[in-house]
Amino acid sequence: MHQHTRTDPYTDRYAARAAGMVPSEIRALFAVASRPEVVSLAGGMPNITALPLDVVGDMLGELTRRRGTEALQYASAQGDPELRARICEVMALEGVHGSPDDVIVTVGSQQALDMITRIFIDPGDVVLAEAPSYVGALGTFAMYQADVVHVPLDEDGLIPAALRETLERLRKEGRRVKFLYTVPNFQNPAGVTLSETRRAEILAICAAHQVLVVEDNPYGLLGFDREPMRALRADDPDNVIYLGSFSKTFAPGFRVGWALAPHAIRAKLVLAAESAILCHSSFTQFAVREYLATQPWQQQIKSFRVMYAERRDAMLESLEALMPDGCTWTRPGGGFFVWLTLPEGLDSKAMAPRAIAERVAYVPGTGFYADGQGRRHMRLSYCYPEPDRIREGVRRLAGVIERELQM
Ligand code: PMP
Repeated sequence: MHQHTRTDPYTDRYAARAAGMVPSEIRALFAVASRPEVVSLAGGMPNITALPLDVVGDMLGELTRRRGTEALQYASAQGDPELRARICEVMALEGVHGSPDDVIVTVGSQQALDMITRIFIDPGDVVLAEAPSYVGALGTFAMYQADVVHVPLDEDGLIPAALRETLERLRKEGRRVKFLYTVPNFQNPAGVTLSETRRAEILAICAAHQVLVVEDNPYGLLGFDREPMRALRADDPDNVIYLGSFSKTFAPGFRVGWALAPHAIRAKLVLAAESAILCHSSFTQFAVREYLATQPWQQQIKSFRVMYAERRDAMLESLEALMPDGCTWTRPGGGFFVWLTLPEGLDSKAMAPRAIAERVAYVPGTGFYADGQGRRHMRLSYCYPEPDRIREGVRRLAGVIERELQM
């Protein structure tokens, strides 16, 4: 099955897995969405204007002068031991008590997703993923020719009864399910959070079916109204691989994330990392380590929360005031995203060019499913634009939807 363009002269030489490599819809959209006259509710870029760049700059200069011979050298593929110890302190905020020896530092959590898929998935193996799911994870699963089976979620996150039914059906069909991929907190793209009771149920179901859980948690510390929830990993360390990231709590440009995995899996991940990158950047690992050791990082996360909460409020208030009847949306308690459902009959993908013409961009829901669902949905991000721009963006979007309804 070749999905390459006709103009690619190398088509017959690629490996079979390269057939699944097609650019995401989101990437194509970003080019137009980044024009200054367009209000982009599409991108999920963290807003790092709240970071004290002069402090970070001094820290990086100092690091080079004082520790440059180490910080600019090769290092181990598992990652800096002191950083791994600090990472364990960060995870303790969500009730996770991991050993630094079970942590591997990765190039963002995206690299952890890639390596986990690489070590577990043979073509045709089943990965369970929420419907909808994070587009970057779906891309990785496609790359390794996994068969993604979606399990629906609602306002309280992944639905345990649906998970149980899906697993039982797949077992009857003799299918091999390797893991469940879930973003339990302030999910990308739906903005919903898995409730406490469901956490226990989902762990029990997965343990009973011997299905690993991949808990992807980049937004867990970005809750607006309550303390961080207890991670899935905290209650079943032998069956959960936890992924974390400094992309949203510090800055994505450092590309520092991590995986905390059962010991044997961690060992495989280190081998996979050696093959992919030899080792992570010592410099950015030292930078994050230094930042955690010397800067008020929890205070910084608090200022991120305050900024994002204000933007979430701006978005929810204007949706409430302006959206036509028949539209519904989620009310995130943290993170970056609102998931909007259009009235019956409307199509977010077909509407996208008309929205761009009206100078507002969003991500059509179809990108967040492996199976073509999602036409009635869209992801709206409030993380990046100023509150006034968010209000203006929602106003334009409401106008576009009104006109669609009259068509
Ligand atoms: N998982 C989820 C759910 C995300 O939203 C993102 C970033 N958009 C990532 C993983 C990857 O982030 P990073 O590689 O920067 O840690």
